[in-house]
Amino acid sequence: MKIKKIKKGDLVQVLRGKDKGKQGKVLAVLPKKGKVLVEGVNKVKKHVKARGPKQPGGIVEIEKPIWAAAVAVVCPHCKKPTRVGFQIGKNGDKHRVCRRCQGLIDEGGK
Ligand SMILES: [Zn+2]
Repeated sequence: MKIKKIKKGDLVQVLRGKDKGKQGKVLAVLPKKGKVLVEGVNKVKKHVKARGPKQPGGIVEIEKPIWAAAVAVVCPHCKKPTRVGFQIGKNGDKHRVCRRCQGLIDEGGK
């Protein structure tokens, strides 16, 4: 499954599940799994074994990837979760645009 609409560093909002409504930055995109890792979203407690005096064991909270389909990119212009469209630039490069305000999502048009 390809994830074309979401990129690392995007701000996204969760649409479904226990973290519905939360926003966070995309830390990683996992195209093979169809999932994204979002900062502060889908946190789970994990038991960690002690690995030595400097790394004691205990319970840590980590984020787990969630389905890419369950998040929407937050437009940097209208600040709302939006559907992403595509626009072909003058040089034939593809830009992501907000379907609400038509603003470019990719700052600088990378
Ligand atoms: Zn917008």
